[in-house]
Amino acid sequence: MDVPFLDLRAQHLPHASEIEAAIQRVLYRGWYLMGEELSGFETEFAAWTGVEHVLGCASGTDAITLALRGLGVSPGDEVVTVANTCVPTVAAIRNAGGTPVLVDVDAKTLTMDPAALAGALTPKTYAIVPVHLYGHPCDMDSILEFARVHELHVVEDCAQAHGARYRGRRCGTMGHAAAFSFYPSKNLGAYGDAGAVVTDNENIASRARKIRVYGESERYYHDLEGINSRMDEIQAAILRVKLTWLDESVDERRAIAKKYDELLSESAVTPVGEAEWGESAYHLYVIRTERREKLQAFLRERGVGTLIHYPVPIHLQEAYRFLPYEQGSFPVAEAAAKEVLSLPLYPGLTEDAQEYVVASIREFFGG
Ligand SMILES: *Cc1c(COP(=O)(O)O)cnc(C)c1O
Repeated sequence: MDVPFLDLRAQHLPHASEIEAAIQRVLYRGWYLMGEELSGFETEFAAWTGVEHVLGCASGTDAITLALRGLGVSPGDEVVTVANTCVPTVAAIRNAGGTPVLVDVDAKTLTMDPAALAGALTPKTYAIVPVHLYGHPCDMDSILEFARVHELHVVEDCAQAHGARYRGRRCGTMGHAAAFSFYPSKNLGAYGDAGAVVTDNENIASRARKIRVYGESERYYHDLEGINSRMDEIQAAILRVKLTWLDESVDERRAIAKKYDELLSESAVTPVGEAEWGESAYHLYVIRTERREKLQAFLRERGVGTLIHYPVPIHLQEAYRFLPYEQGSFPVAEAAAKEVLSLPLYPGLTEDAQEYVVASIREFFGG
């Protein structure tokens, strides 16, 4: 049996005619940027999240940058995020002119440890970027309370968390702003790059909206220094179609994860579980084992695709050696980097395939 890590074609085929019709609609209209598909998507995604303003942009990385610049981050301002995240979180902070400051993660969920924030606070701290990693919400009440007391801004990195909930509230609705990615493999994936900023704050939205198109207030008049970060009409049209079954596909992800939980009970591996406050959107199903490299190689031989999210924490990446950290700075993130392994999980994954994946894991550990 062959179980790929991800199968985007399996997600396209059941909806091929609807998606292809949406693309055609754009091709024949002859309007390819900043048109009615984008504004339609922005309105519909706002309704889905329950937030007032949505701005489509070119990527999730840009969405974080635009949100931070929208809330006024300027050079020298410190922005706190976690050592265990995807590099774009930190790249976006740098692109906004911020100085990344890292904290460790909580050992159970591998998301931001709120207790670590106090140690990262300086007079220059401006914002916090909690990352709802793997689709699991961070402990937001503690993070928001810390931000309130110290007058900091909060931008949620929701790149992996479309459909996740924290104590019943949707991820993306709790901070001053949030950033979504629609990279093809994400829970809501485009057929190319795309992202969005969501916020209830009029000021943040209007600044970010200008910065998205070179700081333009009206055509050829520029109030702010900006960038070019547009979501094209084809991506917006595709996302409008896929948004109509996003909730359903998150439910399917959760059902697949629950099945893995069941199949893996009393096995030699430990799934990164849900905290009592969280309803994960299961962008990824992550297990931990000290024998990760050997297990991954064994599964590869058995035709099972896996990935590691992430093998190297931010502070140990070559590109970020200039940050003031070293081996040992973030022990929880460092231990996780050696042990985590993501199993195949995508809408359309069959129970047979899941049983095969788990049987292969059990076989590796000797039945
Ligand atoms: C994917 C991702 C991003 C960046 O999104 P892009 O659309 O690839 O720019 C940011 N943060 C996290 C946690 C991600 O997983």
